[in-house]
Amino acid sequence: MPVRAILLPLLLPALVVAVLVAVLDTPGGALAAALVTLAGSLMALGVSRGALQRQLDTLALHTRGRAEGALTVPAPDPDQLEEVANLEGAIDSLHARLSEQHSRLTQEARTLTAVLDGMAEGVWVTDDAGTVVRHNDALRDILQSTSGELIGQRPLALLRNDELHDAVMRACREGASTRLELELEGLFPRTLSVRVTPLGRDLPGSAAVFHDITELRHLEKVRKDFVANVSHELRTPITAIRGYAETLQGGALNDPVMAPKMVEIIHRQSERLSELVEDLLELSRLESREVRLTLTEVPLAEAAARAADTVRPKAEGKSQRVSLHVPAELRALGDPRAVEQVLLNLLDNAVKYTPAGGRVDVYGACEEDRCVVRVKDTGLGIEPRHLSRIFERFYRVDKGRSRDMGGTGLGLSIVKHLLQAMEGEVKVESQPNEGSTFTIFLPRAAPPKAATG
Ligand code: ADP
Repeated sequence: MPVRAILLPLLLPALVVAVLVAVLDTPGGALAAALVTLAGSLMALGVSRGALQRQLDTLALHTRGRAEGALTVPAPDPDQLEEVANLEGAIDSLHARLSEQHSRLTQEARTLTAVLDGMAEGVWVTDDAGTVVRHNDALRDILQSTSGELIGQRPLALLRNDELHDAVMRACREGASTRLELELEGLFPRTLSVRVTPLGRDLPGSAAVFHDITELRHLEKVRKDFVANVSHELRTPITAIRGYAETLQGGALNDPVMAPKMVEIIHRQSERLSELVEDLLELSRLESREVRLTLTEVPLAEAAARAADTVRPKAEGKSQRVSLHVPAELRALGDPRAVEQVLLNLLDNAVKYTPAGGRVDVYGACEEDRCVVRVKDTGLGIEPRHLSRIFERFYRVDKGRSRDMGGTGLGLSIVKHLLQAMEGEVKVESQPNEGSTFTIFLPRAAPPKAATG
């Protein structure tokens, strides 16, 4: 509505009053003039109120449109009252500030969600009653919860662990932080390290971070077992050496029958000790990848022949026949010393665990891109339940027998590591009392290029 439309009803009665005062010039005339003025003002008020009402309605409509996300700002109305225009401007700038804040908060929330979902650790957030209100993707994996909603659940219902429940409640009620370790049972048992903290900063509720430390605990156990095994293995020969040395010192040295026997045992045990130390050092070098293997062409027949020559005296002592069936032209890609060591360990075991009069055969072949060597014996064999474990350090099927035969329990572990370092592998097939076959695979050396005329 134009401003003229509002001013006109106001000015018109004033004009009328002026004319009446001039014409009548009486007290009664003044009263009439006042009445006319009042009537005119009321008319003007009525008209301007209607205009204001319409403009405010339009403003409310625009404001609602903006609040509901209308992208366009309506064009300014030239007849709009200044106050209404100011109000609209203030609403516009308030709206602009709010939408900027809103998009910043949305961005922050999205960043937070991305960070939480990118974490390997599981995270949950609870309200002040200890009910889960938010969690990241990893939590589901860590808790092995494939189905069911986690949100809305209480810790006790999710993990049935009083310690965790208490920690969450302490964080919510007393603002206390707790670190604890949980053992999860089930198909894949897991060990979790959990840190529960209050949200803080006047936010009610708590947060918990779940860290899967199953592998860490497993490695710690392997290390502890290894140290215990090494100590035990070393103690056995040391005890024997010390015992016999003390007996000799105590007078047995003068016993012409016993003394040589005891010295022989001391000698054997000291050799065993040095073999053990050698094997341990070799294994530790392999595991720390200190050993740099030089990969070159290895003639397999030669490597097998050298290994067989080493064990032959022992085999002959047990009336065993060691036969080689490895074609001379076979060439694997490997480290010559390492390949020989692998074959020696396998042949040594074959002779060791095969009774007198048995046979040990070594077969070789090269396929498309790999070479295969089989060491087959007619010995004691291995029960299926031990097969997957015999490549572990110190694992023996029969501890007593292995030690009696001078085994360190490390031979096959060294075989496995050496082959891995050459990108090869080892497999075993065995039946109790029917013998064993250890098969090694190595990459094949590239065949020599044909000479061109
Ligand atoms: P060890 O020094 O005890 O021979 P290894 O690591 O070489 O240690 O072998 C681990 C275990 O595997 C042995 O103790 C033995 O029980 C079993 N084993 C290895 N080779 C043979 C084989 N050819 N026949 C039967 N058992 C074997």
